[in-house]
Amino acid sequence: MGVLALLLGAACDSRPDRALDDEGVVPELDSGDDDGGSSGPDAPPATSSTDESGDASSTGSPTEPGSQIAVIAMPADWSIGPNGTWTFPATEPSPFVALGQAFYAEHPDEYDFLAVYTEGLLIDFWALAVTVHYDIGGIGLSTGDAWIEPADAGSAGRLQQINVMNDPGQYAPDPANADVLVHETAHRWAAFIELTSTPAPAYLLDAGWSHWNIHVHGGGPSATGYGDVVDLGGGRYRYDEVRPWKLSPLELYLAGLMPEAEVPPMFYVADPYDHDPAVTRYGETVGIATLGEPCSFSGTRVDFDIGDVVAANGPRTPAFGAAPTEFRVAFVLACVDLDACDPADLAIVEAQRTAFPATWSAATGGRSTVTTDL
Ligand SMILES: [Zn+2]
Repeated sequence: MGVLALLLGAACDSRPDRALDDEGVVPELDSGDDDGGSSGPDAPPATSSTDESGDASSTGSPTEPGSQIAVIAMPADWSIGPNGTWTFPATEPSPFVALGQAFYAEHPDEYDFLAVYTEGLLIDFWALAVTVHYDIGGIGLSTGDAWIEPADAGSAGRLQQINVMNDPGQYAPDPANADVLVHETAHRWAAFIELTSTPAPAYLLDAGWSHWNIHVHGGGPSATGYGDVVDLGGGRYRYDEVRPWKLSPLELYLAGLMPEAEVPPMFYVADPYDHDPAVTRYGETVGIATLGEPCSFSGTRVDFDIGDVVAANGPRTPAFGAAPTEFRVAFVLACVDLDACDPADLAIVEAQRTAFPATWSAATGGRSTVTTDL
């Protein structure tokens, strides 16, 4: 399936690719076997039918459901197989580039994020954030980390990230639950930072270097760590998933939404051991198979504060107050055939779109807003 597999395969091994987002949880994301939650990342469902007709036109009244979703056609040389997974030519530079170019061929360059749903599974795990802009200082990313530039995707520079939400059918059990979109959006800023006190690089992160591991407390429940760890005393700690996912104070700072002075003390647990469930089962990251399952462990608490974050990663630029707090998100549904776009998929994307502004506001403590109309 083109070079996507190569890109993802390299994602866990090299720093530049870590902004692929969910690479760290990819292996687990596809193996869901114990999460039956309504929005839980269980094994993705079968793809939507592509042979039934339906009116998926994006034209019509602005208030008509679905009219504010950009419905685009998949490139003609792509195809969807019987297992519901897309295939595309090996010469394709990146499916994300192709999707961006298809979108910008018909829409203005007026969006900070694209939330792209595909009729069928584009990627064989839940969702993915593809950061295309590396212009923010102090968050642990540099321009050298970029592997797709805004121009590659068809934007003159405004586009910051493509949230590849994959098959809408994944969200069918609870279509108005936009938690996954909060998580992917938060990857614009996290989790990439370092601390000078850690014994090794990426010590706070998961295997994909894009999520906090279960040993990190960023001042509160986290969107890119899925939850939080608390100090039980006596050298024992407990990690829990915390829903709905929201940005922790550390993530709010990294997003430019919280001043340094407001970020509370934080800690990580060094040299963790005696995990229950055993670390070999749980892993030091969070995946589908273990999402929602608490894990307790022992280790050495290492306190840090926002000053340590700034010291190791440089100041956040633009700083709080200058950083944008309002973002425009275009919701996109890529269909096999525009004339046969599944209306059920369109309805799911519409539910996600209409839910996201309130969900995002809540996830950021009212510090940020999104607009989701075209
Ligand atoms: Zn992620």
